[in-house]
Amino acid sequence: MKTIVWTVDDLPNLSTSYPHIAQAANILRENEVVAFPTETVYGLGANAFSDEAVRKIFEAKGRPSDNPLIVHIASQDQLDEFVEDIPEYAEELIKNFWPGPLTLVLQKKGDRLSDLVTAGLDTVGVRMPDHPIALALLKEANVPVAAPSANRSGKPSPTQASHVYYDLQGRISGIIDGGATGVGVESTVIDCTTKIPTILRPGGVTKEQMEAIVGEVSVDQALVEEGHAPKSPGMKYTHYAPNAPVIVVDGSHHFIQQQIDQFEKEGKKVGVITTEEAKNDFRATKVLSCGNRANLQTVAAQLYDVLRQFDQEDVDLIISESFPQAGVGAAIMNRLLKAAGNQVIVEK
Ligand code: AMP
Ligand code: MG
Repeated sequence: MKTIVWTVDDLPNLSTSYPHIAQAANILRENEVVAFPTETVYGLGANAFSDEAVRKIFEAKGRPSDNPLIVHIASQDQLDEFVEDIPEYAEELIKNFWPGPLTLVLQKKGDRLSDLVTAGLDTVGVRMPDHPIALALLKEANVPVAAPSANRSGKPSPTQASHVYYDLQGRISGIIDGGATGVGVESTVIDCTTKIPTILRPGGVTKEQMEAIVGEVSVDQALVEEGHAPKSPGMKYTHYAPNAPVIVVDGSHHFIQQQIDQFEKEGKKVGVITTEEAKNDFRATKVLSCGNRANLQTVAAQLYDVLRQFDQEDVDLIISESFPQAGVGAAIMNRLLKAAGNQVIVEK
């Protein structure tokens, strides 16, 4: 299959009649899959009402079939087609954070959604992305679109069209290239089927932001302590992993350098993930900055790109600085620890 790449560079003038958007929407309606930018990461979309279409997502990504997909919509009216029993706090979250990087897990209604989307669960994750291309495409396609991140399963999520092309070229019908995504980590997933909303995956909307709107917000135990099965099926899989193993080191620059030196002495070529503030402090085979520690949004935006850049470098091991868990730091650390398979060295 030849993968078409459509470049959309005049975002301010975007309309649904833009020929590339119309063509991609047609392909979605024909039950084929296309990748498109959202404000979080690039998504790989398919008609959520069609088994045939959704199956192609799992095939292209090599994604385990028990990991449900998030359904993307362009207008709130579409919710009525496939969810029911929306609690009041969920309405508040929608009012405040849609369009945006927040996925609500709600009670599924009827049987229009493909069972492959929900992996057989009676709930469904839904969000409205805050990106002009995604919204125009969804509106034009006029069906809810199931879309996981547009990477091969297990690899870091794509934040640029070139990442999607690298992973999925020849396996999908097309990619809409809308430049780099903004947020850089995926949406927050929040279970809205419980009395108190529960974060299943930290992401672009923070716990603190939601608490300011709806009061108490809890966090799935599996995110807090090891040994609990996650309520979000996807959270149990290895994810975001570059080719070289990653170790997160939590400590002073001096301590981090000691670890680097130790590994290099053993003959390992070490790559380092650091920040603008510290990039000149480390000596290693390759040092890459993923943003400013003083502004963690910049780290979220670049983290996956830096993880992917290390696949082009000759390193045996990647050591990453650790980040504070507050705000978007919760999502950054969640992804980094997954990339590291929970390998952490802490300075005593
Ligand atoms: P991705 O599409 O790769 O960003 O991953 C979507 C995430 O949302 C995965 O962690 C899924 O397990 C989770 N998710 C999607 N639908 C549900 C649902 N109905 N219940 C719980 N988690 C869900
Ligand atoms: Mg993903």
